[in-house]
Amino acid sequence: MKKYVGCDLGGTNLKAAVVDPLTGELSGVTSVPTLAREGHEAVLARMAQLIDTVIAASGVDRSEIGGVGIGAPGTMDMERGMSLFMPNLIGNWIEVPITGVISNAVHLPTFLINDVRAMTVGEWKLGAGRGIDTVACLALGTGIGGGLIIGGKLHLGIGGSAGELGHQTINFDGPPCGCGNHGCLETYASGPAITAVGLKYITQGQATRIATLVDYDLNKVNPKVIAQAAKEGDPIAIDIYERAGYYLGIAVANILVAVSPQRVVIGGGVAEAGDLLLEPVRRTVKERVFVVPVDQIDIVPAALGVNAGIIGAGLWAQIQTQA
Ligand SMILES: [Zn+2]
Repeated sequence: MKKYVGCDLGGTNLKAAVVDPLTGELSGVTSVPTLAREGHEAVLARMAQLIDTVIAASGVDRSEIGGVGIGAPGTMDMERGMSLFMPNLIGNWIEVPITGVISNAVHLPTFLINDVRAMTVGEWKLGAGRGIDTVACLALGTGIGGGLIIGGKLHLGIGGSAGELGHQTINFDGPPCGCGNHGCLETYASGPAITAVGLKYITQGQATRIATLVDYDLNKVNPKVIAQAAKEGDPIAIDIYERAGYYLGIAVANILVAVSPQRVVIGGGVAEAGDLLLEPVRRTVKERVFVVPVDQIDIVPAALGVNAGIIGAGLWAQIQTQA
């Protein structure tokens, strides 16, 4: 069976590997700095070189590589293989023909997918959504991304724009969001949103374990530290995750009534808080959803870890070349 290159275009690093689509096993894993400030042409040249390096390092014969999947942050036109809007990457990424440039350079069929949609495919095929045909996936990090598997297929919508679960309105009077809306889930439950609440309590002079854990250095406050404080019993830190989980629970409730998935998979750095975050989500969903069978829906942490995006991008290339 053919193998596929999965490539993850991140704001900081470009990572790629050869993916075995049956097991998710990676070979030739390599990471280089994205250096987005050098512009998209330089980044794409580096990506093409990285793909060649990874194939060579994997020991897999080039004739056994079926294609390349590229996961990228932001919105894209999947059919034309173009980036449309990538706010987390410096430089001009509007209508950059990513798949055209890469396939010309590496001579392999190349496909583009949003990074969290790639993670969704990975978790569905080989991770926490395995064996299930309708799955919703959320990734909570710097932003909140999402993806939907409906009836055994990644749900694409127009140009692949479906599944932006972090940009559903949670509070119609809420704060502005980077997407142009206000009151999106992302403004309440992303890493920066959780950090901001922690900082607010500290600067208000509240006694919290968060402050002592970072030795009063506000630059060191992050969701991980706040989760640590919560696990040590700090009531403010517990409350911060309760609130984030409450908002996330409202978002998940909205997803359940629209899609009725058998499983909701929650990943990304913020989800490393585990049940601190997931328990209020489950509670909120039970309090709010009555029109779908909530007792048949599992809300679970992601299983594939930091390489989910690479695995999913490789699997996406397989799905597309076999379509
Ligand atoms: Zn938004």
